[in-house]
Amino acid sequence: MEETPSRESLPELETPGPGLVRPVPFWRKRLLNLSVVAALILLGIRFQHDLNAERLLRENDRLHRSLEVALEDVSSLRQSVDSLHELDREIRQIAKLDPIPKEVRRMGVGGALYEASLPGIGSQAIGELEQLQRETDLLRASLSRARDLVAAQMDEMRRMPSIVPVASGERTSNYGYRLDPFTNEWRMHEGVDFQADVGTPVLAPADGVVVEAGRDGNYGILVKLDHGGGLQTLFCHLSRLRVDVGDRITRGDHIGDVGNTGRSTAAHLHYEVHRNGRAVNPDPYILSELAELD
Ligand SMILES: [Zn+2]
Repeated sequence: MEETPSRESLPELETPGPGLVRPVPFWRKRLLNLSVVAALILLGIRFQHDLNAERLLRENDRLHRSLEVALEDVSSLRQSVDSLHELDREIRQIAKLDPIPKEVRRMGVGGALYEASLPGIGSQAIGELEQLQRETDLLRASLSRARDLVAAQMDEMRRMPSIVPVASGERTSNYGYRLDPFTNEWRMHEGVDFQADVGTPVLAPADGVVVEAGRDGNYGILVKLDHGGGLQTLFCHLSRLRVDVGDRITRGDHIGDVGNTGRSTAAHLHYEVHRNGRAVNPDPYILSELAELD
């Protein structure tokens, strides 16, 4: 009888599987699994990479188009700023301000700050925007200066005596030495006379403030206006006052009526212009052409 070796005594052998295929060792299985996982991960990464690349390309394309649109906007902004420069030149000429040299208007080239970090059309757009910003700052300052100057000039013009100060009347006596009608002696006549009917309106020749409104022995009923800048006007021999001291007056306002009060031989308006406290020839302050315009 053959002795059957007991199971316990047999050496540990790899038991061939069905069909005589040797079983895959555990470590190889693990390796295989890892390889599959690694391959999947690589595939995933590659896929993701492709997706990212595609997304970046699309994004880049979109940004590029946006920048092109921005450049077109900047270009039309440049045209607007250039036309403002032209307007500023004309306004400065009207305001009698010195012209701004071309190189000061341009004030160098912008964009250097962004040149390194944002190449291409991006830097071009931002550089031009910086330039435009500097130019609009200059334009704002220039136009403000011109506006202030024109406003001051207009104010000065409003306060400059310039019209015939009586509604209707004829000039009968000029500024200068003349024979005094009372004493028949040569004497300085410090104003001009306009013959007019009693009650004819006397008009303010410029904007100002009433500093005197009353009666004087020689001048009769009188009004004195202060126009600022050392200029005052005096209206004498009135029959009636139409203003009070302190009133603010606009050119053309009715300030009194022609009369024959004080040292006067007939109804007329005696008109004086004072500069820095002294009577001066009123002729340069009576501009008939302005009177027609007013
Ligand atoms: Zn007079």
